This record gives sequence, C-alpha cells and structure tokens, in this order.
Amino acid sequence: MAAVIDKTDEQQAICEMVRQFADEQIIPNAEHYDHEDAFPEPIVEQMKELGLFGVTIPEEYGGMGLDLTTYAMIVEELSRGWISISGVVNTHFIGSYLLMKFGTDEQKQKYLPRMATGEIRAAFSLSEPELGSDVAAIKTTAKKQDDGAWEINGQKMWVTNGLRSDLVFVLVRTDLNADKPQRGMTCFIAEKVAGEHENSGDYKGLNVPPQLRKMGYKGVESTELVFDGYRCPAENILGGEEAGLNKGFPQMMDALELGRVNVAARGVGIAQRALELALRYSQERRTFGKPIAQHQAIQFKLADMATQVDAARLLTNRAARMKDAGERSDIEAGMAKLFASEAGRFCVEESFRIHGGYGYSKEYEIERLYRDAPLLLIGEGTSEIQRMVIGRKLLERHKI
Ligand SMILES: Cc1cc2nc3c(=O)[nH]c(=O)nc-3n(C[C@H](O)[C@H](O)[C@H](O)COP(=O)(O)OP(=O)(O)OC[C@H]3O[C@@H](n4cnc5c(N)ncnc54)[C@H](O)[C@@H]3O)c2cc1C
Repeated sequence: MAAVIDKTDEQQAICEMVRQFADEQIIPNAEHYDHEDAFPEPIVEQMKELGLFGVTIPEEYGGMGLDLTTYAMIVEELSRGWISISGVVNTHFIGSYLLMKFGTDEQKQKYLPRMATGEIRAAFSLSEPELGSDVAAIKTTAKKQDDGAWEINGQKMWVTNGLRSDLVFVLVRTDLNADKPQRGMTCFIAEKVAGEHENSGDYKGLNVPPQLRKMGYKGVESTELVFDGYRCPAENILGGEEAGLNKGFPQMMDALELGRVNVAARGVGIAQRALELALRYSQERRTFGKPIAQHQAIQFKLADMATQVDAARLLTNRAARMKDAGERSDIEAGMAKLFASEAGRFCVEESFRIHGGYGYSKEYEIERLYRDAPLLLIGEGTSEIQRMVIGRKLLERHKI
C-alpha cells in the first residue's frame, strides 16, 4: 500500500529490506524501549550491519553512495517502525552531508569512513536554552587562542544524540563585531568521547548533563551540551579555517534544507503507520452490530488519512528529487516538511480516535505514536517557521 512513488529496482529492494527490518526488529521492540526510555542498542547494532549509517556517504568512503530520494524512502520505513530509530541516524546524516559538501579532504578522510560504518556517530547543534527558531541569536562563542586553537564557551540545548555521539557539528559565534550576526558564525566539528558525561584530556570542557525528559521520542537521548573552556583545533573548523571561518550560518542553513526533507519523510512514515493501525482496528472492532469500518464516519476518516499520506509522500519525493537534481528546492522542502509533519499529527490523531478508549491504553501502539508525532511539528523549524520560509521565498521567486 505504501507505493504511490515509482521506485527503481534498487530502491524497491532497499525499501523492502528496511520494511522487513522495521516489521521484525523495530515494531515488536519499540514498546519496551519507549517504556524504559532506553537506548535501543541491539537495533542500532543491526542498523550498522545493514549499512544504514552510510546510506548517503560516497562509496569511496565506504558508504552506499545513495541519493537523498532513496534516503528519504529509507527514513520513511524506519519512522513507520519508530521515529526514535530514524532519530539515531538523522543527525548523523546531516553531519555527513555537511562534511561531504563543505569539509576539507582531510576532514572527509578522517571522519567519513568511520561514519559510514556507524563506528563514530554525529550530532548537530544549533539550539540553545534561549533560542531555537532564531538561529542568528546564538550566544555560544569561540575565541581564538594564542596557540591557534579556538576556545568554545556557552550552552547548547536539545542536542539529539548529544551523549552517544563522537562528533558534534556545532554552530557558534566567532565574530562578535560582524555587521550581521549570520556573518560571524562558524561550524566547528567538536570531538568528544561517546557516552561520557564529563570529558577529560583533549576534550576537557565539553560536558553533557543528564538527558532531558520528554513526552515522547524516547530511547534516543536529547541533551544539553555545556562548553566551558573547550578547546577545538583550528583544523576542526568545517571546511578549514581559511574557507570555513564565519561561514557556518549558510552551511547550516543548507543542511537544514536537507533536514526538512528528512523530517518530512519521518512525517510520512508515522502517518503511514497510523493509517495501517486504523485500517486494522476499524475492521476488528464492532459497534451497533457491525465493524466500525462499515460506518461511513469512520470510512471518511480513513479516506482523509490515506489522502494525506499520499500527498505527503508525493511532496517529500518531489523535494528530494529536486535537491538531488541540484535544483533550487527551498520552497518545496519547506512545503514537504510543513505538510508531512502536519499530516503525521493529523493521521495519528484520527487513528487514535478510531481506537476509542483503547487508543489511550499503553497496550496499543497508537498511544506511542500520539506522543511521538508532535515532535515533527517542532524539529528543523516549526510549522510557523516553514510558512515564513515558504512565504518569503515565494515572494523572492515571483518579484514584480
Ligand atoms: C526532541 C527534540 C529534539 C531536538 N533536536 C535538536 C537537535 O538535534 N539540534 C538542534 O539544534 N535543535 C534541536 N531541537 C530544537 C528545535 O530545533 C527547536 O525546539 C525548534 O527549532 C523551535 O525552537 P524553540 O523551541 O526555541 O521555540 P521558539 O523559537 O522559542 O518558538 C516558540 C513558538 O514561537 C513561534 N515563533 C517563533 N518565531 C516566530 C515568528 N517569527 N513568527 C511566528 N511564530 C514564531 C514558534 O513557531 C513556536 O510556536 C530539538 C527539539 C526537540 C523538542
């Protein structure tokens, strides 16, 4: 049922493989990890074996070298299983994109082969306690020291994979006198020890407080990061000091466009799963002498959900294909993210309603989806921010 989109034979084979993985390994175990809020280590180990950490990394660095379109299909399948599982790879994917697009040869050689296997994992960090949407307001700073290294000070917030990552692509201010703050920001590749709350030695000054407690999106950690005199060598500026200093803002915005397609795919996945659960439950549950699926009011819900799922998938696929073709896709990525994340929320709520009282019970999968879906309205830019981006870009494209 998930088709709608024409797939190449390779895409078909990969999607079937990931769907089977989700059906056999993710869905049956998600409830346990969600309930315990525990990191799904065995599932992540299997994802490494399947090569899922290197999907978009070029073959020369040990990855699969697949495009964004295929990646989005994979993310949909993983998210259909559990969005926390896609969360484990998503920030990694953004980090590898930043390296592939802006990294120096040395940076690519140093990190990409180990990222492709999942041996090292990446997080990316823009948000701070006082800002999320307003990235230009970042307060964390890096200051050049006499020996050429940069010292980072400040606090970051909501870092997905903040504890278990080895690398954090972190955006900080490096020129406090820039005419616009966006022109004075740099992306550093901050190395740390995965799993350490208090780093020492070379990574001293980068601490990870206990993970934030959340409504849903359990299993994958979201953390603060405290930079307190953390020293980062100049060669860890994304793209190198000469090319990368004060270029972090446009680099991150470019990656966010890709990230929006990624979140859109997650919206499609969760919406698809909500629809599947509703289709099944509505044929099993009987009221007034017949399965509730035979009541027209329920069929209308199913119809609206299926329409939203297909529309969200088509928008996501279009945005991914345009980005792959090197076309300008800011509006399309924004539309896909906006529509698919809202479709995720809508379908989950409709499916929840169809489940009646049981939808409120932890015995039913829809209860978890109900707590997970709202995240997609927030991450990589809220729905309001998407509308702002779409509106602004529309006017740019159609200036009279
Ligand atoms: C579980 C989770 C994981 C996350 N992971 C990461 C991560 O890995 N890395 C990272 O950097 N960040 C991450 N984030 C942070 C996320 O990107 C931000 O929460 C998001 O960008 C919104 O920012 P904010 O929370 O500061 O809300 P605010 O920016 O304070 O916005 C509050 C409200 O005001 C609205 N608003 C803001 N500005 C305007 C405007 N100009 N016009 C109209 N409405 C406006 C917003 O849409 C929202 O409704 C994560 C967040 C969560 C919850």
